[in-house]
Amino acid sequence: MEPWQWPEDEWRQRVDQVRAGRSLKPKCWPGGAKCAVALSFDSDHETNELRDGGTSIGRMSWGQYGNRVGVPRILATLSKADVSATFFVPAVAALMHPDEQRRVIGEGHEIGLHGWIHEVNSTLPEVDERELHLRAADTIERITGVRAVGMRTPSWDFSPATLRIERELGLIYDSSLMADDDPYELVEQGVPTGIVELPVEWIRDDAVYFNMVRFQALRPYTPPPAVLDIFRREFERAYEEGGLFLLTMHPHVTGYRSRIFILEELIAHMKSRTGVWFGTHAEVARYVRAEIE
Ligand SMILES: [Zn+2]
Repeated sequence: MEPWQWPEDEWRQRVDQVRAGRSLKPKCWPGGAKCAVALSFDSDHETNELRDGGTSIGRMSWGQYGNRVGVPRILATLSKADVSATFFVPAVAALMHPDEQRRVIGEGHEIGLHGWIHEVNSTLPEVDERELHLRAADTIERITGVRAVGMRTPSWDFSPATLRIERELGLIYDSSLMADDDPYELVEQGVPTGIVELPVEWIRDDAVYFNMVRFQALRPYTPPPAVLDIFRREFERAYEEGGLFLLTMHPHVTGYRSRIFILEELIAHMKSRTGVWFGTHAEVARYVRAEIE
């Protein structure tokens, strides 16, 4: 049957798999703050090549840059600004670089789940997807000593089973969907789940502005100062509205000498405003849950 032939049930059912429910935007943020900032870094490293079944030594070295240079440079920036953030790490990247994960936790940041090997959930049978998420959660806990409470699905890809598995894992938040600027409750098949969505957006993701494809015409067309300008405008409006500014960055994308200033200047700008609260994703999720209930 073609989409234009579908009965109403069919299109409703497709849309209602996972929806945004009630807004969890609080009246004010911790300490009476006007606005919340949640910075996240997806430490994919070598899994970007491995998930595609690749063996490219060049792309593995790009991934290793994320660990050797990107993460240390980002951690130094966060430490200098005294800001806590969240790092989403595929379990295979954590196994490859366990010391990095322990350092991230040791410096007061959060580590969230990001799949096993950056697999694409919607291409997997449910039984495999579940097993990988469970194994990833146990692996991250074994390495860091901390049980993760949130997930950002690899590539922000959601299968019909993903939310169910997140509930089974007892997670308090997801950060992979984009139905709002501010936190909201995820609703599955019409039923509120209690899981907080901390929404992402491609607009607030460094990778879309900077990635290139070597053998196609895809090149970065947005200069770094323009990327900073977009992020700053997203923050400014969040500040005016008393909302959440959530940013996704990647150590192998932003951790470069010519790009790290985006993070540095953005943080400096946000700190120049009064009443800006910086929290990890877990802190934001816990706060909005407690505030609304
Ligand atoms: Zn990723």
